[in-house]
Amino acid sequence: MKNIVVLGSTGSIGKNTLEVARNLKDKFRVIGLSSNSRWELLAEQIEEFKPTCVALNDRQLAEKLKRRFTDNNLKILTGNNCLEEIVSNQEVDVVVLAVVGAVGLPAAIETVQQGKILALANKESLVMAGHIVMPLAKKNQILPVDSEHSAIFQSLQSGKPGEIKRVIITASGGPFYDYPSDKLSDVTTEQALKHPTWQMGQKITIDSATLMNKALEIIEARWLFDLKVEQIDVVIHPQSIIHSMVEFCDGSVIAQMGMPDMKVPIQYALTFPDRNPLKVQPLNLSNIGSLTFKKPDMEKFPALRLGYQAAREGGTMGAILNAANEVAVQSFLDGKIRFTDIVLSVEKVINNHHFIKNPCMEDILTADAWARQETKKCLM
Ligand code: NDP
Ligand code: MG
Repeated sequence: MKNIVVLGSTGSIGKNTLEVARNLKDKFRVIGLSSNSRWELLAEQIEEFKPTCVALNDRQLAEKLKRRFTDNNLKILTGNNCLEEIVSNQEVDVVVLAVVGAVGLPAAIETVQQGKILALANKESLVMAGHIVMPLAKKNQILPVDSEHSAIFQSLQSGKPGEIKRVIITASGGPFYDYPSDKLSDVTTEQALKHPTWQMGQKITIDSATLMNKALEIIEARWLFDLKVEQIDVVIHPQSIIHSMVEFCDGSVIAQMGMPDMKVPIQYALTFPDRNPLKVQPLNLSNIGSLTFKKPDMEKFPALRLGYQAAREGGTMGAILNAANEVAVQSFLDGKIRFTDIVLSVEKVINNHHFIKNPCMEDILTADAWARQETKKCLM
């Protein structure tokens, strides 16, 4: 029996994780949960899973939660460092990091430092500080939840690290891949929030529409699998059936396939190296008919180019790219800027920044704060 905590349990990945945990009750006990402000859903999850510790970021709502759950066996945390506090509970074996954004970084570091398994959905933490997080982790201590990285990780089981030639990350292309370039600036938030193949939180859905999600995934792959940037290719695959591939030195290409369902990579991260039965829609290739592939268009989707640039340059570049993108995406969601302004503003901020080659944690946090301010200024 393993004890898990799900940080960001009220989100898309969080809810899918709890669904997996529900079906593996004999293997996992959920002892910690957290959310930002959706306290009523968190309360339902507390009723069902009976964790010993939960965190709610919003202080006022945390008071409400405390009035609702007066049982002394439940610790309710709020405020700074509460995610790290949940993680540091001695009983925790596995942390599913499913919060969105830079806020996940300290909990990622705490988890690996404490020697606990990190099932990582929060790609932003590696984008910001992969050079700090990865050296702290032992082999297979960080298990990818992101579907492409899970596919790569699963494919890697059929070879050795030294035998990898390259990885091929697939991208659905999002809702606008074939949309006329000159009309992209007019797309609405509603259109951008309609992803063709995946149901996800708002931020990553917008990232998928700009292809910034793929940019973040290039950087994530670089760190997770210790790859050179030249070893990472992206191919547009609108059906999202092949979740990514690895080409080995003998020319064999191993792919992981399946109907798009995040429960598959979540469960694999939780049960690795074992596989367990899971109710998913079976893959029926003759019904699907054809799988198609296209070269990514970096002119129409400049985010991809920025992703390669940040992966190549390293240093503070990832933190800047990520923070600028978080601010710009929120601004687009709030209806304040146009769709195409998201990546334009990220590029401007990247080009203005004071680059540090080997940043320490403090440099990363300073770069993050600077990029947030700078992006706001640039969008005013
Ligand atoms: P959601 O927006 O659906 O959920 C985010 C979760 O984080 C919620 O529980 C939210 O709480 C919580 N949260 C948000 N802000 C804060 C904060 N400041 N402090 C503490 N908790 C916070 O996102 P997703 O589940 O879609 O994505 C989560 C992560 O997983 C992201 O990094 C994303 O890139 C990655 N990912 C997601 C995939 C997907 O299919 N959804 C696929 C691959 C990766 P509340 O509900 O109260 O707002
Ligand atoms: Mg992904």
